[in-house]
Amino acid sequence: MNGKEYIESLRKYKPTVYFMGKKIENIADEPMFRPHIHAAAMTYELAHDPKYEDVMTAISHITGKKINRFTHIHQSIDDLVKKVKMMRLLAQKTASCFQRCVGFDALNALYITTYDIDKKYGTNYHERFIDYLKYIQKNDLMCVGSMTDVKGDRSLRPHQQKDPDLYVHVVEKSEDGIIVRGAKAHQTGAVNSHEVIVMPTRALTAEDKDYAISFAIPIDTEGLINIFSRQTNDTRRLDGEIDCGNAKYGIVGGETLMIFDDVFVPWDRVFMFGEYKFAGQLVETFATFHRQNYGGCKVGVADVLIGATATLAEYNGVANAHHIVDKLTEMIHLAETCWCCSLACSYEGQKTPSGAYIPNPMLANITKLNVTRFPYEWSRLAQDIAGGLIITAPSEKDLKNPETRRYIEKYLKGVENVSTEDRVRMFRLVESLSIGAQLPESMHGAGSPQAQKIMIWRRGDVNKKKDLAKVIAGIKTDEHFKLIVGKSEREFFDIIKNTSNNYN
Ligand code: SF4
Ligand code: FE
Repeated sequence: MNGKEYIESLRKYKPTVYFMGKKIENIADEPMFRPHIHAAAMTYELAHDPKYEDVMTAISHITGKKINRFTHIHQSIDDLVKKVKMMRLLAQKTASCFQRCVGFDALNALYITTYDIDKKYGTNYHERFIDYLKYIQKNDLMCVGSMTDVKGDRSLRPHQQKDPDLYVHVVEKSEDGIIVRGAKAHQTGAVNSHEVIVMPTRALTAEDKDYAISFAIPIDTEGLINIFSRQTNDTRRLDGEIDCGNAKYGIVGGETLMIFDDVFVPWDRVFMFGEYKFAGQLVETFATFHRQNYGGCKVGVADVLIGATATLAEYNGVANAHHIVDKLTEMIHLAETCWCCSLACSYEGQKTPSGAYIPNPMLANITKLNVTRFPYEWSRLAQDIAGGLIITAPSEKDLKNPETRRYIEKYLKGVENVSTEDRVRMFRLVESLSIGAQLPESMHGAGSPQAQKIMIWRRGDVNKKKDLAKVIAGIKTDEHFKLIVGKSEREFFDIIKNTSNNYN
């Protein structure tokens, strides 16, 4: 599909969606959803631009057909690298969240995990999943990757919660399928997706078996209810264009609280059913894919913010001041550091037993942890350079009102050759990119910082580092020596003696 066809395709779906106390019947034309739909449409539109074909499309390894990269299973390191390049590109074009990555990552995580479950238990989830994948690829569908349960009391496991529905679980099983109940929070792009792919949210134990489920359903399945969330300054969309800053694509992806009110799932759409030992792996695999992204999409947004800030500095007449150049350089450094991380975890990716490739998990977590911090710093610098008018500029309506326009034009003028309206537009863009929901999204999207720290600590192998230190410090216990060098100290020095001067 191209962008227009994607928007048209949404008309065929009738999801249950509520916003601001009302049921929303027409998703494609709802002004509050329009920016999110436009941002997602870019993932379709750019796939038809020959300039971006290499990065936006791929060849399906199951059908041999050309597909949108968002439905592809990574077959190489090159695919992993192209994924993050695609994200930076799309964010440069939208300066927002284009939402489709979550479902993309869910497809890849399930491809890998269903293969491993089948290998251990002799089940046939992988085959089922491949049938589903073919359907997604053929129809070029957008999927919500649905992971985060609402969780209730965080100190309790799913089965210990007073209300058993605080994590999505099976309540009934029949010959035809299963019935599930629960709710998922922060569902990015849900109202304008075609499909929902549900996964568990955490590692699970035997007592949590009913929560160890994964499945896919169309977004308009009976019993599936979406309550669309509010965002900072969202109703500015109803007031015109300039005040939004990024009127066409919004601030971040629209999210919902997604409720599964006894939803039926046929067996051919179930990809995990009680294999609780694999819940942790599925979550970790998905998280690795999703954390890989953030040095792509957030850096693409930063590219636009840096551009907006530098333009405002020009409009304000301070572009050549040393401290402005220094601060802009600092912004670039922070953004490119995150980009380095996304590239590094992709280039250090590995092939899994399923044949699909996964980024390096440690480096993917480092990527995301940096993104929980650096956007706050580059936003601070943008606000510093831009000036107070990012929050005090008059509204578009006052700018257009003949009674006030001439005053605003006269008194908010910057350098001579730039119109006041253009200057106000740029203030609003910096406002929306540095104050809005971008920042908490960088903090919590793909998991909150502590989730990354747990992974980093687990994979950081501090014991090995301690051994390295002990050897260097001259605390040469044989055990440590063996660990590092792979031989006992005596064997090692014998080799040195025998190779005498040649040893390097
Ligand atoms: Fe994709 Fe980034 Fe949005 Fe996540 S935050 S869905 S990775 S654009
Ligand atoms: Fe996100």
